[in-house]
Order: sequence, then structure tokens, then C-alpha cells
Amino acid sequence: MDNDDLVLPTPVNFPAFPYDPPYWIQMDLMSHVYTSIEKRQVTIVESPTGTGKTLSLLCSSLSWLVDEKDRARKGQLSQPSLSSTAPSWVAAQALDIRKRELEAEDKEYEERLAKARKTEAHFRILARARVTKKQRVTVDPVQGHVDEDAYLPDDDCENNQDNFSPAVRALMAKVDKNNKRDPASQGDEPSCTKIYYASRTHSQLSQVLPELTKLKFKHLALGGAVPDESTMRNMSRVDRDPCQKKRTFGDVDGDKCEVDQRQWRTVSLGSRKQLCINEDARSRPGDIDEKCRELLEGKKNTRCQYLPPVGDESRMLDLRDQILASPKDIEDLATSGKNIQTCPYYGSRRAIPQAELITLPYNLLLQKTARDTLGIDLTNQVVIIDEAHNLIPTLLSLSSVRLTSSTLSTSLKQVSVYYQKFRNRLSAMHALHLKRLLNFLDAFQRVAMDWMAQKLSAKSKRQDTEVMTVPDFIHKLGRKVEGINLLEIESYLKRSKIARKISRYAVDVSEGEKPERQSSGVATPPLHTIEALMLGLAGASEDGRLIFSAVGDAVEIKYQLLNPSALFRDVVESARSVVLAGGTMSPISAVVSELFTYLPPNRLTTFSCGHIIPASSVQTLLLTKGPSGLDLEFKFAQQSNPQVVSELGQIILNFCNVVPGGIVIFFPSYASLNFAREAWSQSGLLDKFNVKKKVFLEPQESSGVEMILREYATAAKTHMPLDKKTGAVLFAVVGAKLSEGLNFSDDLARAVVVIGLPFANKNSPELQERMRYANQTEVRSGIRRPVGGKDAATEMYENMCMSAVNQSIGRAIRHRGDWASLVLIDRRFTLPAIRGKLPQWLRDDVAVCETFGQVMKHLGNFYREKRQRIVY
Ligand code: SF4
Repeated sequence: MDNDDLVLPTPVNFPAFPYDPPYWIQMDLMSHVYTSIEKRQVTIVESPTGTGKTLSLLCSSLSWLVDEKDRARKGQLSQPSLSSTAPSWVAAQALDIRKRELEAEDKEYEERLAKARKTEAHFRILARARVTKKQRVTVDPVQGHVDEDAYLPDDDCENNQDNFSPAVRALMAKVDKNNKRDPASQGDEPSCTKIYYASRTHSQLSQVLPELTKLKFKHLALGGAVPDESTMRNMSRVDRDPCQKKRTFGDVDGDKCEVDQRQWRTVSLGSRKQLCINEDARSRPGDIDEKCRELLEGKKNTRCQYLPPVGDESRMLDLRDQILASPKDIEDLATSGKNIQTCPYYGSRRAIPQAELITLPYNLLLQKTARDTLGIDLTNQVVIIDEAHNLIPTLLSLSSVRLTSSTLSTSLKQVSVYYQKFRNRLSAMHALHLKRLLNFLDAFQRVAMDWMAQKLSAKSKRQDTEVMTVPDFIHKLGRKVEGINLLEIESYLKRSKIARKISRYAVDVSEGEKPERQSSGVATPPLHTIEALMLGLAGASEDGRLIFSAVGDAVEIKYQLLNPSALFRDVVESARSVVLAGGTMSPISAVVSELFTYLPPNRLTTFSCGHIIPASSVQTLLLTKGPSGLDLEFKFAQQSNPQVVSELGQIILNFCNVVPGGIVIFFPSYASLNFAREAWSQSGLLDKFNVKKKVFLEPQESSGVEMILREYATAAKTHMPLDKKTGAVLFAVVGAKLSEGLNFSDDLARAVVVIGLPFANKNSPELQERMRYANQTEVRSGIRRPVGGKDAATEMYENMCMSAVNQSIGRAIRHRGDWASLVLIDRRFTLPAIRGKLPQWLRDDVAVCETFGQVMKHLGNFYREKRQRIVY
């Protein structure tokens, strides 16, 4: 229960924080996050890498959760269970009974999890000695035999056309749900308030649980009155003794009780690809989701062996309890699933309602369809989005659909074959919807072909890319399609799951015609892409665009929603509080203007942490002139100017002479890096760099990154007094493979150099549309900018550029003892509008170097001071 009459005060300290005392910036961050959650706010926090961001986010949010539970418990106890006329002793007795009931519930729950922990320990012992039994492989149905009934759509999706009220339909759905129980169905299990902790990748999420185990939340053992977490928060440090795992506390009557480390009920959500333990399904080529769905729907002999028999919940419940008994990462979940011989993918979904902390990748949190499938209801919950500098690009990519003319023609072919084959066996409703789908696909293919034909006939006069609004595109589809309600077809596709049946029929029929099973196996059905596109088109209004591009002989069609906030608004409006956190969120105004313009000012806060490093450990230099006095501005034309590039080479050569360890140098694009490399190679400058530092270049193929990084790291750490070559220099590209997520700590980056401002290509039709849209949105919202000032589009354009710069410079200085120089080469960095977009912890201490001598002097002094720390 949420009893907001009782406002939780922001704690004065956080005893669960493992390091005592926390740095002041950690305290500030934790207080800010706690307050934001309590006040139901959306907050954007910037906390540089190395400042204990994850630990602080977990500690503050979970401290709030402890207090929230306490508040909810008090709320439950204060609910009047008797009439106000009851004598006070009767009311006191009723309260006592209620209290004991709630304690008994807690005890029962704890005992259940304790039992699951014991079982888990038992499995661990067994695992050490066990010879893993070979899995029983479910044999496939008889190959070549096609049971045509299996391809017919279910008829239960027809009730959309009925005359039942929504209430009756909901009741029918509930009865129906109980009859054919989904393995992950959460039934009516009680749910609790929880923290959803999302990050972009699995590897980022894998760093959360180790931090969680460092926290020193107390678990209150049964059997005595003990101080609650909030009381403990106000106790002295000696009383709290956060360093001990167990401690005895005395209550007011002198009774004793044991306080132990608290285990948070945690669930790590992952994909089938990560969690599936059915080796047979995993070894099949193709889409594992599709394969699993086939096995889920399968009859007795084809149903996945890791799904408990229908009607027998015990194995799934055992797995759920084991998942909740102690925090587990994805690998641990798979082990638990194997121990109980039950699917961990569905088991983890089953554990969601009772979990207190859920870690999950962005896509599961941000897409409504994924949340609905998982049974995630964000109402009144706390959402933390880590590495949130990735949020806007992720939202844009999640709200885009890409398909080619070949996807289109395969879909059209599959639906027509299916329609021809089953037309006489389909109900009128199914036939009607499929006919409409056919009309849509047919018209769409015609538009794509016409577009390509016109492009070819006009040759170079016509652009290779064309952007269309959704109404323009629908109009081009012709009168037959204009009248169709696309949302209705999309909803039909979803309800009837017919796309899967059509695709499966097409694959099975094509396999039946061949002597051997096709290696394509179960690929992602092309109709699913069409379904996603229809959903986009139907809900897009003026925010959607279709971009037609010629790729060889084919047409590529991309649907893009221009407004990233549309997808996120649902999360913000349901959740109690949303925390966007990142090491580098600057420019924060970019996040606000793209995601939160609709929020009332009192619901949105921002917070930018300082860094825990001393100010003397970083120097930020803006270089405006080269050694010959040449003005440095790397606009597009200058990036291939031999004189400018030669000057740049001289600068780098000088840097190689003074910077110890590794230097990472970021170029604005691959083209500019390649031009410079070629020019320096011809002039001999590249050889000169190599005399001092081993030279590495960012590979264009992802497969080469790991090896280059390994070799660079070894070279960067190499200091040989007898050899002139010390350390290494790595040439990379802003926004490419090495500018995000990588850790260039200590000697790996004693200097990070950014050359020029990496503005995106303004000629991109997609970017032009986004910029136009930004201006239109601002005009519509009535915001007035100063006359002659820049417009919303320019602001967005600059923000995109500086976000990329900030990510690049964030590769260095990764912990408290780290130190490095950050050198930004381009006069435009000194412009207040650009400089103001640097991270706040750097912004106030920037040196503008108007001569090359000045920059060398700063570098010399800085490294001379640090030299005593370097062991050569
Ligand atoms: S039910 Fe689970 S174990 Fe079985 S195929 Fe699906 S994901 Fe794999």
C-alpha cells in the first residue's frame, strides 16, 4: 500500500553503503535519488565513471524501498478494522492480531525462501560431484508429414467482433487463461513494489549484482523486536557496525536478536537466447524464439521437456522460489533451471511479481509489447535506467522498422499461397482480414517497384533516398488500401498469431518439396516485420516517416518515428519515479528537450555529480592554433586539406614526446582518419610517431577490435628506459567502436585528444526530417527563442555532436587514483554554446590555449608533476 500522507524524510546517512564514510558526492547522489523517488519525480543524474554510480543508485533506491515497505506496513496496521465505537482495548487487541497475522505471513514467506536456499546449497554440493546426465532429446514429429489443421488460425480471436462488454470479455479471458495456463502465467500472485534496473547490454547488467552483494542491508532474523532500517539509519556508526555480517541488537526490553545480511529478492531477465536450456532447440539454426514457441504449443511428444506438464505447477514454483532465494545472474539462472530441469526463461518470468529488484535490458523495459508479455506493470514502480546516454538512440531504433523489397515479396507470396490453400476452410472474419492484408502487401509492393522504376529512369537526377510522411505513403497505396484500418489488421495479426502459422506453413511446404531439411530452419518470419511496420503506420500520426532507399537493385524501406519520447512516455506516466543515470549525460538539455517537454517542471529534476578525483588529476585544454600558428578548425573541407592535416601531424608528434603511456586520439570520421593516415604515411610522419610510440588504428571490422585492444594495452603499458619507444598511440573515430563502453584507465589513456567537432551529416534525409520535426514541435509548444538565436534543430544538432565528444573523453579517468589530460583541438570548442555542453565536472576548469606553446607548457607541467608516480 502506498500511504503518501506519511512523507519519508531523506535520510541523513545510508548505513548500507559498504564504504564508510561515503564520499560526499556519493552521499549527495544517494540523497538526491532517494528524494526524487519519494517525490515521484523523473530525474536525470550524471555521475562520472569511477564515482561508485551503480552502488549509489542501488543503495539509495533500495533504502527507499525498505522505508516504503515500512510505511506500507504501518498503513496496513492503521487501517480501521473495527467500527470507531469499539472500546480501546478491543481496538488494541485487533491491532495486535493484525500485526501477528502480518508477521506470520512474513515468516511463512521467509521460511519458504530459506528452504529454497537449502535446496540450492544441496544442488551446489551435488553439482561438484555430478556427472551431468545427457539430456533427453525430444524427437521431432514425423518429417514430411504435414498436419494441415495445425496451420489454421484459432477461432478465439473472433470475439473482438462480438457484442460483449469489456467487463464480460475480461472475465471470459480470465476463465480462459486458467484453462490453458501459460508456463509463465503469474496468476493472481501478490506483487510488491520493486525497483526495475535497466541497462543497454547484458555485460553492463552483469556488473549490477556484484555491486548489490556489497551493500550491507540488514536482514532481521525472526524472533525478537529489532530496530528497523530507518531507526538504524539514525543510530551512531558504532551501533550500526556496518562492517560486520552479523550483530546482536538489544530491544527496549533487553531481548536479543540476530541481524544478518539481507538477501534481496532479485530477478535477472534475459532472452531465450541467453536462458534456454533445451540443447535441441539451441542447436537448431534460426530464431530460437520461434522454435521455443513451436515447442510450447507442441502436443505431448513435442512439448519442450523443460516445461512442467500442464496443470502441474510444482516444478515451476520450486524454480521461482530458488530464483528469489538469492540474487542470480543469467548464468546462475541457467544453472538453477538445469538443477530443477525446468525452463529458467519462464521461471524468471514467474518470479517477477514477488521480486524486489529486477534487472533487465532496455528492450524489455521500453517496449510495451515486451512488458505485456512478461507481465510487467510499471504502475507505481521505480525505474532506474543506467548508461542512459544510450536511451535516445535506443528509443529511436526501437521505434524503427527496416525491410527490403525482398521481405515484401516473400510476405506477399506466403500470404497468397496460404490464402489460396485454406480459403475454403477459413471463417468469414479470417478470410476478410487476410484479404485486406493481401491488398495492403500488393499495393505496398507496387509502390516500391514504381519508386525503383522511376529512380532508374531518372538516373542520377533523382536522389537515391526519398522521405515520405505516413499520409503521403498511404495515399500512394491507392484507394483500395486507404479505407483499410491498419490498426485493425495489425491487432488481428497479433491476436490470431496467424503470421507465425503462415510462415510455418510456407517453410514446411518448401521443406516438403526438398529432399533435405533446409538449413534456414525457423527464421524470423518476414510477416512479423510487416506486422511491426503496420503497428508503426497505424499509430504514427505526424511523427512517422518512411524512407525509401535504393540498395543495389533492391529497395530498402525504413519506417522511423521522429519523436523518441512517444515510446518512453508510457513508462514515465506509469512509473512512480524514473531515474536516468549515466557517467556522461551532458548536454542534459538534449535529454530534456527530446524526452520530457510535456512534464510539469516540478516533476523533473537534474543532478550532476562532481568527480571523486582531485582537481589536479585532470586538465582540459582547448587548442586553437598549431605549431606554425595555423588556425585550427576541422570543418569538413579542412579535414582533407593537406596543410591542416600536416599541422595536425606535428601536434601529435609533439604530444607523443611528452605524454607517458597511451594516447587515444579521436577523429570525427573514418574518412578523415583514413585521409590523415595516408598523408602521414607519405610524409613519413607515421614513422616518426612509431619511433616514440607504437601506432594502432581502430579497425573498421568489429571482429578486429578485441585483438587491437589487447595489443594496444600491452604496448601502452610498456616503458623501456633503454628504448626510446614508450607507450602507444591509438587512432580511433568518435561514435564508432572504441568511443563508448570501453575502459581506458591509467596508462591506457594518459591523454585523450579529440580532433574537430563530429557533426552528423546534415545531408542525411533522416537527420533533416528529425531537425525539421524538432523546430515544428517547438513552434507548436509555443516556446519562443531570442530573435537571431539558434533554433531547436541547431540545438539538437550541436547536442548530438557534443554527446559524442563527451562519450569519447569519458574513456579516460576511470577511478579515484587515475589521471589524464583531455585535449580538444578546434577553435569552435571555445564557443560558449559548445563549451557549455561539456560535462559539468570539467566545464569550470578548462584552459583555452591560443598558442601551441601554451598547450605544450600545460602538458609538460602536468606530466612532470605526475612523473614521480610512474614506475619505469
Ligand atoms: S521452454 Fe525454455 S527450455 Fe524450452 S525451448 Fe523454450 S526457452 Fe528453451
